Amino acid sequence: MSDQAQVNGERLLKRLDDFAAIGATPAGGVNRQALSVEDREARRLLAELALARGFQVFQDPIANLFIRRGGRGDGPPFLIGSHLDSQPTGGRFDGALGTLAAFEVLESLEDAGIETEMPLEVVAWTNEEGSRFSPGCMGSMAFSLKAIPAEWNDLRGSTGGIFSDELHATLEALPEARMRPMGFPITGYLELHIEQGPSLERENIPVGIVYGIQGTRWLEITIIGQASHAGTTALSFRRDPMTAAATALKTLFDTVMPQDELARFTVGRFAVEPGSVNAIPASVTFTVDLRHPDAGSLDMLEALIVKTCANAADSAGCDARSRRFFEMSPASFPDALLACLDRAAKEQTLATKRMLSGAFHDALFVSHVAPAAMIFVPCRDGLSHNEAEYVEPAHSIAGARMLMASTLQAVSSLGPE
Ligand SMILES: [Zn+2]
Repeated sequence: MSDQAQVNGERLLKRLDDFAAIGATPAGGVNRQALSVEDREARRLLAELALARGFQVFQDPIANLFIRRGGRGDGPPFLIGSHLDSQPTGGRFDGALGTLAAFEVLESLEDAGIETEMPLEVVAWTNEEGSRFSPGCMGSMAFSLKAIPAEWNDLRGSTGGIFSDELHATLEALPEARMRPMGFPITGYLELHIEQGPSLERENIPVGIVYGIQGTRWLEITIIGQASHAGTTALSFRRDPMTAAATALKTLFDTVMPQDELARFTVGRFAVEPGSVNAIPASVTFTVDLRHPDAGSLDMLEALIVKTCANAADSAGCDARSRRFFEMSPASFPDALLACLDRAAKEQTLATKRMLSGAFHDALFVSHVAPAAMIFVPCRDGLSHNEAEYVEPAHSIAGARMLMASTLQAVSSLGPE
């Protein structure tokens, strides 16, 4: 049935331009941070386009925006979409491509008069980026939890504003959207996104079929020694936490990633107390961002990191404390939905490769409540979270074709006969 419906590539490219104008930066990117005036403007534009086509518009208590095209049946909808918020110096495609390609799918089906059994809905999730209010993926997380975690309400935005106030103002700014409960039942979710890495471009493959998202753990490690005079303290009297940290990190950088090509080990924050040029530090504290697609490997690597730091601290006469302050389990997307994507690619004669996502996406959280999967398209030099982010028009259009064909495969295979 999907060969009767064609995405309108020109319309999609124009929509990408129109949305890129909202929050446009002089360097050609966008600054459309979550729940900002610009974010509200983008939501309004999408809602107006939807209402003009006779689709229904809804929002839930965290301002996830839903555009509904009814089906023959009245069961739970199938969702397609992404996000409209951006990084402060973000690109035009991160999130916007997936949201607008999903809207293009709805419009193309409408143009071709194709009915689906299941209602189809475009979703734009709130605050995927997490740059103004942390954490990211708030909208999809709250959707999967069926609630807004209370501790988010008082969060202060990096550009000002309190989360609950900004959320309220965003909801109020779109009175045409009917309110809906949080976390209603859905039959599945598909998200098109730019790869944000170089592998598809390097291998000249237009479509990535994403089979999972690697798990993440964030650790904070503090090594406590004794502050003393840099000039007068002989080696044998030193309890220097810096030597312990340097030793432990050298060992970990030499082993974790070199011995496991799927592991990612990053130390992004490093603080020294009291931070004086002529004092041996009292303590050093650093963070570890650890990622791996396999939960068992994450356990093993976390234990290795904690033990390595403890041993190094011990050798230097120091103490080490470790705490895990964030954890996200790896997700693997279901075979049945991935098979729909394989069939769609075959039908559209698009070359694909199976790949893992290194970054979080809303699909990770949605996968906790319904079958979910993702489609990646290449971006130039793998560059993202950057105003120079660029996707070839042909790749944007191929991604939308793939999303439409996959959606039709999925609604016919997941739905009632
Ligand atoms: Zn994104």
